[in-house]
Amino acid sequence: MMAIFEYAPAPESRDVVDIKPSYGLFINGEFTDGSGPSFKTVNPATEEPLAEIASATSDDVDRAVQAARKAFGVWSALPGAERAKYLFRIARIIQERARELAVLESLDNGKPIRESRDVDLPLVAAHFFYYAGWADKLEYAGFGRRTTNGQGGTKPLGVAGQVIPWNFPLLMLAWKIAPALACGNTVVLKPAETTPLTALLFAEICRQADLPPGVVNIVTGAGDTGAAVVAHPDVNKVAFTGSTEVGRIIARTVAGTDKKLTLELGGKAANIVFEDAAIDQAVEGIVNGIFFNQGHVCCAGSRLLVQESIQDELLAALKRRMGTLRVGDPLDKNTDVGAINSAAQLAKIRELSEIGESEGAERWSPACELPDKGFWFPPTVFTGVAQSHTIARDEIFGPVLSVLTFRTPAEAVEKANNTPYGLSAGIWTEKGSRILWMADKLRAGVVWANTFNKFDPASPFGGYKESGYGREGGLLGLEAYLDV
Ligand code: NAP
Ligand code: MG
Repeated sequence: MMAIFEYAPAPESRDVVDIKPSYGLFINGEFTDGSGPSFKTVNPATEEPLAEIASATSDDVDRAVQAARKAFGVWSALPGAERAKYLFRIARIIQERARELAVLESLDNGKPIRESRDVDLPLVAAHFFYYAGWADKLEYAGFGRRTTNGQGGTKPLGVAGQVIPWNFPLLMLAWKIAPALACGNTVVLKPAETTPLTALLFAEICRQADLPPGVVNIVTGAGDTGAAVVAHPDVNKVAFTGSTEVGRIIARTVAGTDKKLTLELGGKAANIVFEDAAIDQAVEGIVNGIFFNQGHVCCAGSRLLVQESIQDELLAALKRRMGTLRVGDPLDKNTDVGAINSAAQLAKIRELSEIGESEGAERWSPACELPDKGFWFPPTVFTGVAQSHTIARDEIFGPVLSVLTFRTPAEAVEKANNTPYGLSAGIWTEKGSRILWMADKLRAGVVWANTFNKFDPASPFGGYKESGYGREGGLLGLEAYLDV
C-alpha cells in the first residue's frame, strides 16, 4: 500500500500557456497599473513565482466601478438576444482555449490537470452556454414579465461586485459573471490573491470576444481590495464565495444599504453510507468526496458517517483505495491529488490534524513521499472521531476525512445535521425510499444520492445556516441578479 509521488515522464506542457512577467488590473477593457504594491503569485507545487500581479486600492476599485456603471447603460439596453451572442462567443472561446486555461489553472492553484481539464473547464464553458440561453428568455423565468417600459421582473440590478476564492478560480468566476451578464448587469470581480491568473486570461478572452469595455472589470489584490469592492456605494449587488468569517464581515458591511447580497460560505458535509450500499461504489464516492481538488471544496464530503455493521469492511476498502492515489505534480495526467494551494492553507490543515490527534482520534495516511519544495499534504483519514471533536465540527478544507459511525437512519440524520453548516450531503444506499426519506430530513442545500460532487449549471447550489444564503446556478441563479 503506497501512495506514489513521482514526476511522470510526460506532464502536460506548461508551454501551451504564455504567462507574462506582470499583469495589470483590467478596467474599462484595458489593462492598467494598480496603485497598490504589486505581489507575486506562486506555483504551489514548486513555490516558484509565476508572475507579478497589480494590486488595486480603493481608488482603483472606484475607477472600475465607474467603468462598470458607464457600461451598464449600454449593456442593459441591449436586447437579450444581443447579450446572448456575446456570452455564446465567450463560451466558445473558453472551449477553444480550454487547454491553455486548464494548464494555467493547475499551475496557479495546484489542482491536478485531469480535474482542471475534465471537470473545471467543461463546467466553466457549460455555465456560459447555460446562461447565454437565458439572456433572451428572462421574461419566461417566472420573475414577472416585461412591462411597457421594457423593464419589470426582468430588470437588472446594476453593478455587481463579486469576490471569489482560490479553490475553483475560473469556475467561481463563471458562476458569478455568466448569470450577472445574462441579466444585463455589469461586474467588478476580485479573484483570490493566490489564484489571479485565469481571471486575467479571462479578461483577455473578453477582449477577444469584443465585449463592450467596462462590462467586465477584474481588480486583483488582497482582502482590502475585496472589502473596497463590497463597500463601494455605487455597487448594487454583492456576491461572495469564501470563508464564513469573511462572509460575516461582508454581511455587516452590506447591512443597512439597499445592496442585494448572496453568500456561498463553508461546509462540513456528511457523506452517509448504509450497510446495503454497493461498497466499491461508495468507496469511490468517498474518495471523490474528500480528495477531489485536495479537499479544497466547500461541499466536500468531509464527515464520513458509516453504519456500524459495515465499518470495518468499508474502512479496509477505503484505505486500500487511498493507497493507490497518486500525490504529485499537478501537470502529470496520472496525478490524483495535487498541491495544497498556499503555505497558509497547509498550516491550517496541519494544525487541525494535530488537534484531531491530540483530542484522541486515530490518524492514518498511506505511506507517501512528499517533496521538500511546494505545499503538500497526504490523503488522511481519522477514525474514532466523536461529534465533539474539533475535526468533526470545523471545516479543514484539505484532504482530511473524519469518520463517525451510526446505527439507525434517525441517528444518521441527527449526526449529519449536527453542524453549523448546511451546504451538501451524500447518501449511499440501494433503497430509493430511504434516499427520499433522508433527503427530506437533511438540512443541506444539495443532497447527492449514490454519487458525490456532481455539478450542473441547470441545478441551483447554495446552503442553509452558516453555509450562506441565496442560490447560484439554474433558474434560481437568475433571481440573484434581477430586481424581482
Ligand atoms: P477568504 O479569506 O474568505 O477569501 C475569499 C475571498 O475574499 C478572497 O478573494 C479574499 O481575498 C477575499 N477577502 C478576504 N478578506 C476580505 C474582506 N474583509 N472583504 C472582502 N473580501 C475579502 O478565504 P481564505 O482566507 O482564502 O480561506 C480561509 C478558509 O475559508 C479556508 O480554509 C476554508 O475553510 C474557507 N473557504 C471556503 C471556500 C468556499 O468555497 N466556501 C473557499 C475558500 C475558502 P484574498 O485572497 O486576498 O484573501
Ligand atoms: Mg484570505
